[in-house]
Formats: sequence, structure tokens, C-alpha cells
Amino acid sequence: MTTHGVVAIGNKNRWVGVYNQQDSFPSCLGEDVWDTIKEYGNLNKFVRDLLKYDDWINFLNKGVCPYCGKKGFGRPYNKIGFLREWTKGKTEDGVRKYFEDLPYSPEYIEKFLHEPESIEFRDNIERTNYPDPECKYHKHEKLRRTNKITSERPSNEWIYVVDPITKQIIVMTGQYRVSGKPIRRLLDIDRLTDDEDWIWNQGFIDNRYAVVTVVDLNGKKPDWNKIHHDGDDMKEF
Ligand SMILES: [Zn+2]
Repeated sequence: MTTHGVVAIGNKNRWVGVYNQQDSFPSCLGEDVWDTIKEYGNLNKFVRDLLKYDDWINFLNKGVCPYCGKKGFGRPYNKIGFLREWTKGKTEDGVRKYFEDLPYSPEYIEKFLHEPESIEFRDNIERTNYPDPECKYHKHEKLRRTNKITSERPSNEWIYVVDPITKQIIVMTGQYRVSGKPIRRLLDIDRLTDDEDWIWNQGFIDNRYAVVTVVDLNGKKPDWNKIHHDGDDMKEF
């Protein structure tokens, strides 16, 4: 699922961070950030290493693209969702396991496993250890150290700001408010079926970031599912 996010260093008001393209909600990326910091054991080293990269996936893989195995490229963008599941799962059983915690029906998972692209990814992994070695289903952005996302120009749904001074993770989510006149060019009367369409068709006229919670890195592991739900309840202001 394309849910954008940022893992950043700083504090609530000023931060600089790296982008994450998919599954950025707390129960996925939030927990991942927590686990990664715990595995590091050294918060200052985590801070230094994170900002060497332009993307969370690149950081986790030390610059080796998990989709094609190439090194030295900028952040990878996949054009097909399956790629990520195969990258994580590696085998049919592995992919099934990956889906176990997610709200998909067994029928959906079996269908997904037998899509032509899935077969291709599986064969590529067996052959090369990577699902898309020829970069057919993903592309790389140019590698630039300045590819960072900052508090001055936020553009993402979930933000995890690691504060090395207070030793906390500040979890923020994007909020929107619908106000003012509808934007005509976005208005598609035929598609106005429910409130969600109405909001979509007006455009997100006003948005801002709000703190969902602050997690103490020396405390016990938080309930990331709860944080996810709390953040979802704050989407409008
Ligand atoms: Zn790649």
C-alpha cells in the first residue's frame, strides 16, 4: 500500500529526514523504526548512519537496492505493489507468512501469488536472489545527498522524528481540513457518491501536521497498532 512517510532526526518543530514510499503507518514503519534503533543499540550512530542515505529502504540495506541488488543508486520507486512482498517474503511460503498479519483473504493471497508478475519475481529470486534484477518494475531516483525531506517542506502522511537529545520518537500525522469553495477543476459531479468523494473532489484545502504521541526510547515497546488507530482518528481538524 502506498502510504508515504518520513523517518527524521530533530524535534517537533525542526527536522530533516529520509523518505519511505510504502506502508508508513505506525504498525509497520513505526515499529520498524523502533526495532531498528533497538538493534543498533547506539542512538548517535543510528542518527549519523540514517542521514547518509536518501531513503529508509536504502538505509536498511546499506545502499544496496533490495529489488535489483544494484548499489549506488538513489531511492527506488516500485511501479507494482507485489514487488515489496516478494522482496520481503522471497518464497511463496515466505510471502504467505508476510501476509498473515494483514487483512487479506486467503483467496486474495492465492490469486496474488499466481499473478504473472509474481511468477516472474519468484523465478528471478531463485536465479539472482532479487525479484527485479533488470529494473523492469522499479526505477531509481538520482542519488543526491540533498534528497532529504525537511520540516520546512513536509509532504507525507506519517512522520517519525527521532530526537537524540530527549531520546524519544515523536510520531506525527498529516491532518486536513476542508474549507472554502470547491476547486472546480477537481470537481467531478458524477463521482460524488459519498463524503469521502466530496472531500477528495474539493482537494485538501488546508493541511498541517499533528503529534499523535511521543514514544520514550528507554521505555517499554509501545502498542504501534493503537498509535496507528489514534493517528487515523486525527485525520481531520
Ligand atoms: Zn533497484
